[in-house]
Amino acid sequence: MAGAMKKSFDYIVVGGGSSGAVVAARLSEDAKRTVLLLEAGPRDNSLLIRMPLAFRLIRQLALFDWDYSSEPEPHANGRSIHAPRGKVLGGSSSVNGMMYSRGHPRDYDQWAQMGAIGWSYEDVLPYFRKSERSDRGRSTWRGAEGPMHVSRITHDDPITRAVKDAAVNLNYPLVEDFDAEPPEGFGLPDLTIGGGRRSSTAEAFLAPARHRSNLQVVTGAHVVRIVFERSRAIGVEYRVDGAMFQAFCGHETILCGGAYGSPHVLMLSGVGPADHLRQYGIEVVADRPGVGEGLQEHPLVPMIFRSRQPLKLRSEIRADRVALSAVRWMLSGKGLMATQPLSSVAYYRSQPHLERPDLEFALIPTSLDAKVWFPGLRKPQEDLLTTYNIVLRPESRGSVRLRSASPDDHPAIQFNLLEAEGDVERLCYGIDWTRELMATNPLNGFVGEETLPGRSVKDVRQFIRAAAVTAQHPACTCRMGVDPQSVVDAQLRVHGLEGLRVADASIMPTLIGGHTNAAAIMIGERAADFICG
Ligand SMILES: Cc1cc2nc3c(=O)[nH]c(=O)nc-3n(C[C@H](O)[C@H](O)[C@H](O)COP(=O)(O)OP(=O)(O)OC[C@H]3O[C@@H](n4cnc5c(N)ncnc54)[C@H](O)[C@@H]3O)c2cc1C
Repeated sequence: MAGAMKKSFDYIVVGGGSSGAVVAARLSEDAKRTVLLLEAGPRDNSLLIRMPLAFRLIRQLALFDWDYSSEPEPHANGRSIHAPRGKVLGGSSSVNGMMYSRGHPRDYDQWAQMGAIGWSYEDVLPYFRKSERSDRGRSTWRGAEGPMHVSRITHDDPITRAVKDAAVNLNYPLVEDFDAEPPEGFGLPDLTIGGGRRSSTAEAFLAPARHRSNLQVVTGAHVVRIVFERSRAIGVEYRVDGAMFQAFCGHETILCGGAYGSPHVLMLSGVGPADHLRQYGIEVVADRPGVGEGLQEHPLVPMIFRSRQPLKLRSEIRADRVALSAVRWMLSGKGLMATQPLSSVAYYRSQPHLERPDLEFALIPTSLDAKVWFPGLRKPQEDLLTTYNIVLRPESRGSVRLRSASPDDHPAIQFNLLEAEGDVERLCYGIDWTRELMATNPLNGFVGEETLPGRSVKDVRQFIRAAAVTAQHPACTCRMGVDPQSVVDAQLRVHGLEGLRVADASIMPTLIGGHTNAAAIMIGERAADFICG
């Protein structure tokens, strides 16, 4: 590190994503603490990030992304599966689908039962509420004074009404607020949107903190290693535009690189399974066999149906109308660009005796790769209804490992997707269940031929193995717990080391049965609270 610039702070936060942005913003609320936030991606000043509907374009073009893919998946026909992760201030909260979801209260009670003392739903609820500015107002379940906007989906179109009526005909409950009622049945999720703009953690937490002289945010800063003095983390090495820097911390380093980034940085720094580290010539600081192990992801299987009726969205995405909608959005924050096209979400059980729903269904009134069209230039896509089913508590487990000792090489991500037969069973059930729903009055008035997988496909299991992807909710690779495989304790301190915590989706003891952004933010809130005492 000869010639490298050296700086000193009380706290260094690695990664400015859903959790890291929260940690840095909360820690710097006290002007006496100096905080450095290092984020590998750029600033989040693109309009595409702000504009909710542009989420689809970000995804199609893989913008602001680490560009990770899994190793060939042995139980999914040897396919390598894309693993998107935000590489930008706000992390994945700047590129995600904005669905606000906490999972099931029992998910957190289960964490506590597994040894994560102080993480039951009753314990974590105040932190969900603290971060949230819900347009539903303050209640036992909801926060209204936090920085992150959470708002209801207000659109009400014929297909949305038809799904509700079909759900009632099948005796499912309609849920007005998935976080205030038992999360089971049909409804629409809230979205992390405020005033028609995406409420990422960069926008909600960091933007208001940017003026603080005790908070330094460096973007384009790739952390390559945590620096240890014996068993104490004393700082980090990072690279900006090819130049190496060191920063030192007087108190703590908080690693918030996400479920792929955090185990990767730990292993590059000598914290992980000793044999694996030695294989790449990395000096072992702490033999922690659980680092990178136990990766959990939600397997997702799409289905596609032709629509018998013209869908609004197809005419709305004609190029000239999109341009007008974009202008309208810029002037008023309203209209097509200000929301997500989602007609319904349902949480349901594949077997009646289960204590919680084990499947999630969603219906989107378009094709996922629908593109802007214009007569004479590009034809519109036909009217399609896309559905997906995800397994909420998958049994399959994977890993994140090193590919080499170089921080420039992507980590080796192995989901082992669908390794457990139970995950495949659930998706088979989900396909039958979806067919029944789509054939139920009055939704059947909209639903034409099933084109994916299609009724002619006889081997549904084979279709599942060929078509399954992930819901982009990786977790559990630096698991919190008290057993020898766990990586952090219930205050998120890395076992056996000092001055180092991990705070992001990687610390989940088990993957929650919902989308993971709100939980990652809650984890950031908790980490800041632990540190501030
Ligand atoms: C395309 C997509 C759609 C999704 N949709 C939804 C949804 O609708 N609802 C929902 O609840 N969840 C959704 N998720 C999941 C959710 O966004 C994530 O679970 C959550 O953001 C994870 O937070 P995190 O803090 O663990 O990681 P991240 O938010 O990914 O943050 C990690 C940060 O660390 C940075 N970093 C990593 N390594 C380094 C390094 N070495 N040096 C410096 N910086 C580093 C990264 O660039 C990133 O900014 C989606 C995710 C994706 C990718």
